[in-house]
Amino acid sequence: MDSEPSPQRRRLFVQNFGCQMNDYDVERMREVLGRQGYDAADSADDADLIVINTCSVREKAEAKVASAAGRWKELKQQRPGLVLAIGGCVAQQEGERLLRRIPVADFTFGPDQIGALPDLLGRHALGRRRFAATEVIDVEDYRFLTAEPRPSSTKVTALVTIQKGCDNHCAFCVVPATRGREVSRPWREVVDEVGRYVAAGARELTLIGQNVNSYHGVGADNARGDGDDFAELLARVDAVPGLVRLRYTTSHPHDFTTRVADAFRDLPRLAQWLHLPVQAGSSRTLKRMVRDYTREQYLRQIDYVRSVCPDLSLSTDIIVGYPGETDAEFEETLSLLAYVQYDSIYSFEYSERPDTPALKLALRDNVAAEVKAERLQRVQALQKEITARRLGRWVGRRAEVLVEGESARHPGQLCGRTTGNEMVNFAGPPSLIGRLTKVAITGARSHTLVGEHADAGHRLPVLA
Ligand code: SAM
Ligand code: SF4
Repeated sequence: MDSEPSPQRRRLFVQNFGCQMNDYDVERMREVLGRQGYDAADSADDADLIVINTCSVREKAEAKVASAAGRWKELKQQRPGLVLAIGGCVAQQEGERLLRRIPVADFTFGPDQIGALPDLLGRHALGRRRFAATEVIDVEDYRFLTAEPRPSSTKVTALVTIQKGCDNHCAFCVVPATRGREVSRPWREVVDEVGRYVAAGARELTLIGQNVNSYHGVGADNARGDGDDFAELLARVDAVPGLVRLRYTTSHPHDFTTRVADAFRDLPRLAQWLHLPVQAGSSRTLKRMVRDYTREQYLRQIDYVRSVCPDLSLSTDIIVGYPGETDAEFEETLSLLAYVQYDSIYSFEYSERPDTPALKLALRDNVAAEVKAERLQRVQALQKEITARRLGRWVGRRAEVLVEGESARHPGQLCGRTTGNEMVNFAGPPSLIGRLTKVAITGARSHTLVGEHADAGHRLPVLA
């Protein structure tokens, strides 16, 4: 009997920009294209298909894409069969315009088109015309791509998406325009996918979405939730056998309920780390941002979650130089940082983005570039001191570390994270990879900890 000829193997190279959502999308692209005979290329030079996956959250995104595409132009001239596709949020937002701006691109595709990549490649192979595939799938018809983790390529940590899109209207943000309406993934799919990752060797799973607290996939009808659906989902995932640690990101304070906060106390695998973006410390700025909470409400949430989980590590996002931000408003951001004492922050200068509510509200980008730069520098200088203090609290204690692998930056050392998401480097045998182990923390660098593998004889107090 004749057997099916195996498809000709080809090679895929992906250059990725942006957030964890984009990391997740790249994994799905690899899987979808893997089934079409594409293996990972070591470099663009060996590739038959190059995908640039783009992010448009902050400015210069298109410039980055153009410079990335420019790099492969010569390669395409040398190898006419090489295909260059541009995916992600810039592709979604710019559509045909991006094709005109980047003549070297064969086609572009938005985030909803990842599952259709084989068809898009077929269309490219058949036709002569370049095209932009930016159709958005209706909420009712949207189906999440299923991850099929393999033991050979699964790492200790993995991402599972629970949601796509966003229904909020934060005035600075382009995400609702590029990723569309919010859809929650049915809880059963989430739990099953977590189970498959654990079976393939993952130990720590991070549930991802733009606004995970508004998840509403627990009920059969996918009806809008109130934050408690997310708490229920966390409880169901926490119970997956073999899972060692669970994290989630990103939370929006608007839907962060006390039940979600209580999960830090009640769920044994839920890591003691919360990323709760505040964006600004002034209620007036927050109002112009259309964030739907005040400084006081946010701080009450912080106080509550710290009361149920005193050693929680916290991180946040900050934007400086938002339209109309006065010196006094900015000072409130500094005072909020000083009050909360985050373990780490991501901080950005505001950049005007197309198709955002800020433009419709006529909020012009009116804070001078030098003022933005100076404010960013002050935020980062303050946070540097706070981070040093927060990391310092581990020194002299034993931390429970989930070992992720060998450190790329510190050869000969292992690396892993505490429950609070702090990276720890220490010397130890590779057999520890994938396991929880005790590390005596001996010092702190600017963003990471260093330690010694602690055997049973260590007498330092255990923090986590
Ligand atoms: N969904 C998340 C949330 O609600 O916080 C984050 C989404 S966004 C991908 C990540 C961060 O980028 C935001 O929290 C914000 O601090 C920053 N960001 C978004 N739009 C921005 C803009 N126009 N200018 C500067 N920073 C921006
Ligand atoms: Fe953007 Fe706000 Fe949605 Fe986050 S919650 S993705 S900042 S609109």
